[in-house]
Amino acid sequence: MINIYQPSLGDEELKIIEDVFKSNWLGYGRQGRYQDEFIKNLSNMLIDTDVNTSVSSDNLLTISCCSEALFQSVESYVNEGDEVIIPSINFVAASNAVVHKKAKPVFCDVNPRTLNVELKHIEPHVTDKTSAIIVIHYAGVPCDIENISEFCKEKNIKLIEDNANSPFSKVNGKSTGTFGNMGLWSFDPMKVITTGDGGVIYCKNKDLLKDIKYRTYLGLKSSGSSNPVDKKWWEFDITFPGSKYTMNDISAAIGVAQLKKVNDFLKIRKHIHETYNSELSKISWLQTPNDIPNNVISSYYMYHIQLESENDRNELAKYLRKNDIYTTFRYYPLHWVKHYKSKQLLPNVEYAANHTLNIPIHQSLSDDDVSLVIENIKSYK
Ligand SMILES: *Cc1c(COP(=O)(O)O)cnc(C)c1O
Repeated sequence: MINIYQPSLGDEELKIIEDVFKSNWLGYGRQGRYQDEFIKNLSNMLIDTDVNTSVSSDNLLTISCCSEALFQSVESYVNEGDEVIIPSINFVAASNAVVHKKAKPVFCDVNPRTLNVELKHIEPHVTDKTSAIIVIHYAGVPCDIENISEFCKEKNIKLIEDNANSPFSKVNGKSTGTFGNMGLWSFDPMKVITTGDGGVIYCKNKDLLKDIKYRTYLGLKSSGSSNPVDKKWWEFDITFPGSKYTMNDISAAIGVAQLKKVNDFLKIRKHIHETYNSELSKISWLQTPNDIPNNVISSYYMYHIQLESENDRNELAKYLRKNDIYTTFRYYPLHWVKHYKSKQLLPNVEYAANHTLNIPIHQSLSDDDVSLVIENIKSYK
């Protein structure tokens, strides 16, 4: 089977895990050398919109996963009864977090070709109750983030960027995830780089990030060996009755090894994207994605084609799966999830959900694999 996503792990990751094992310290809470190193190295690879230089590591925090990061972002900015605008093509944890907070997710439309949200899709849904907007950068291509972040500043609405698709994407030289108040990275096994499970939160407000740091580690400010010797170091107090959503050093160490490879990963992904573009655009019965604008860098996380009829899309998916090529559609519209009881009608989202197919793209695909995918698609009709 040719997988749609796949982690690329090898000797470098095994070697660094060996170091963690030998150190006899797998990290606990956020105490671990590889957690610090991962944050430092990641921060150096990102350009902050505010300062136009590398992100400061003080603005970043490791977390157990991006889903929890979404919950923390909502906890930070949203009150019971508020409304939060979410493009319907989005990951389920975003709306779960809003509903969990007893606030209301208000789903909005997207561009039917890029599946990305634009300011014009958001504006009609803004009310006095809107406290936050959660956007994603679909497939790794930045959404209309410059206009959306300007708008949010004007209206005093908090902007949360789910950066799980777009870990190394940029707009005019600035990293996605740093345009809003908070940006959220995922390193689960299906993402561009992985730590097994894990995530990172970027927050412009360092005090708020500290609150999240304590909240996601039992409410502890300090304990154990981080307490001074002249006190009884096993005593502690809490600032918040929190649970525990930290990373560990095995994960962080894998992340350190993955960061060293990420530029190569992105080159391979770009190559696959361009090969698909040039070969699949010759097929009359499907549409390849829009060209990526010149001022933008993509993380090439997903590749999507669109077919004229829903039936054709479904049949092509089945045909490819029978031929050992796995495809899917991301993300099943949230306004269709019955649990939320949304009555909204979002025509572009519906078009996208019925006509789009995501096909395999990851850095372990060989040129032969990519040719096989292309030949199989060509042979469908
Ligand atoms: C994968 C993903 C998440 C969730 O990340 P986890 O680290 O698995 O919790 C959130 N949002 C988007 C857009 C994703 O693709």
